[in-house]
Amino acid sequence: MTSASHLFYQTRLRRPLVDRAEGIYLYDRNGKKVIDGSSGAMVANIGHGNRHVIEAMKAQLERVSFAYRLHFENEPAEELARRAAGYMPDGMDKVFFVSGGSEAVESCLKLARQYAVAVGQGSRWKVISRFPSYHGSTLGALAVTGYAALTDPFTPMMQEMPKIVAPTAYLDRDNFSMEERGIRYADKLEEKIIEEGPESVLAFIMEPIGGASTGALVAPDSYYPRIRDICDRHSILLIHDEVMSGAGRTGKFLGGDHWNCQPDLIALSKGFGAGYSPLGAMIAPSRLVQPVLDAGGFMHGYTYAGNPLACAAGLAVLDEIERLGLVENAAVMGELLKAELVKLSERFPFIGDVRGKGLLLAAEFVVDRQTMKPLPKELNAFQRVVDIAYDKGLIIYSRRTRGGIEGDHFLVCPPMIITPEEIGEVVSILDDTLL
Ligand code: PMP
Repeated sequence: MTSASHLFYQTRLRRPLVDRAEGIYLYDRNGKKVIDGSSGAMVANIGHGNRHVIEAMKAQLERVSFAYRLHFENEPAEELARRAAGYMPDGMDKVFFVSGGSEAVESCLKLARQYAVAVGQGSRWKVISRFPSYHGSTLGALAVTGYAALTDPFTPMMQEMPKIVAPTAYLDRDNFSMEERGIRYADKLEEKIIEEGPESVLAFIMEPIGGASTGALVAPDSYYPRIRDICDRHSILLIHDEVMSGAGRTGKFLGGDHWNCQPDLIALSKGFGAGYSPLGAMIAPSRLVQPVLDAGGFMHGYTYAGNPLACAAGLAVLDEIERLGLVENAAVMGELLKAELVKLSERFPFIGDVRGKGLLLAAEFVVDRQTMKPLPKELNAFQRVVDIAYDKGLIIYSRRTRGGIEGDHFLVCPPMIITPEEIGEVVSILDDTLL
C-alpha cells in the first residue's frame, strides 16, 4: 500500500487490505486468515459470505435496487417492516427505515421531539443520556453521546444535553447489594430530571446492554424497571439504543428483552443488515407516530431509507437468523465463551471483570481486583492487545473507557454462527495473546 492513498479514515493508522471473507473468517491481501472476533463492529452477526443473502440481494439487484420513496413504495420494505415488527415488544409496530445507527438514533430524537410538540408539550426538548456512552456521530446523536474526546471539538455547534453516570455497580466498594446499587443508579435519572426541570425533559436514552463505550456493561436487574417507572412518572420517553445490542447478539432479539420493561422508541442497525447492506430502523408505537403524522408529518428522512436492495438484504438476514436459530445459538455459545473468559480471568489477575450477555461480551483490565484500578494509560494495553491478537489471527474490539473513569477493556463478539470448536480457537488465541 503506498502512502499516496487518497482515502482517509479517523486516524493515520493504516490497516491491511481485506481480500475476502467466509463464515467467521476474514482474509487479507497477503493471504493471512483472521477470525472476525468482533463481527467488525458487532455488525457481521450472521457471518460473512452467506449464500442465501447474496442470492437474495442479486435477485433484487436484477429487478430494482433503488426507487425513491417519494415516487414508489417497495415490497421488500413493506415486508421487512412487517417481519421486524414481529420481533418488537407489544405495540411497537411502526418501522422507519434508515441506513445506519446514527441515523436510527437521530430519528428517535426527532420523532420524540415532534411528538411532544404535536401533543402540546413543546417545552420538552432535553434528552438525558449516560456517561460514558456512544450513540452516533451526527450532531444530534453526538449531543447525547458521553465520550469527551468525540464531543469536545463540536460543543459550540450542538446543544449540550444532560448526562447521568452509567450504572457501573461492579466498581462500587460500598455496603449496598447489587440490586440496591441498581436502584441508586436509576434514581440518578430522577435527580437529574428534577434538576433540569421535569417540564423541559423530553426523553432518556440508553443502551440496555452497553456496547463499545462501556464494554458490554449490564446494570443490576433492579435498574431497568426503576428507569421505566421514573420515565412514566415524569412523562418522559424511554429510548433504547439497540444498535449494537439488537438483532439477536445478546441471546434475545433485543438487549432490552432480558428485562420486562418496554421502551417507547428503539434504534436498530448493525446486525439488522449484518454487513450485507447499510440498514437501520427506528421502531415506534402508533401512539407516538400518529399524532406526528396528523400534525403535518415527520420532518425528517434520508434518501436511501428503505431502498429495495437494503430491505431485501435485511429480509434475507432475518431468514437466516430464523433458519439457523442464531438468537438461541448466541445465547448458548455466549455462555460457553463467557465461561472460558472467566477461566482466563482466573489465570490472568489483570482481568478484573468479565461481563455481558450472549455474544456481546467484554473483559476489563485492572491493576488488581481489590482496587479495580485501571492500568496506567502509558501501557496502551487496549491497543497492544488488539495488535498482538491480530498477529496471532484474531480480531477483537478494544477501548479505553469504562464507567465514569478510564480503563481498558476488550470486547469479544464473534458472529452468531460460531461453533464450539471455533470458540475453542478464539479462546486459545486470546490465551496466547494475554500471556
Ligand atoms: N449507537 C450505538 C450503540 C453504536 O454502537 C453505534 C456505532 N458503534 C451507533 C449508535 C452509531 O452507528 P453508525 O456508526 O452506524 O452510525
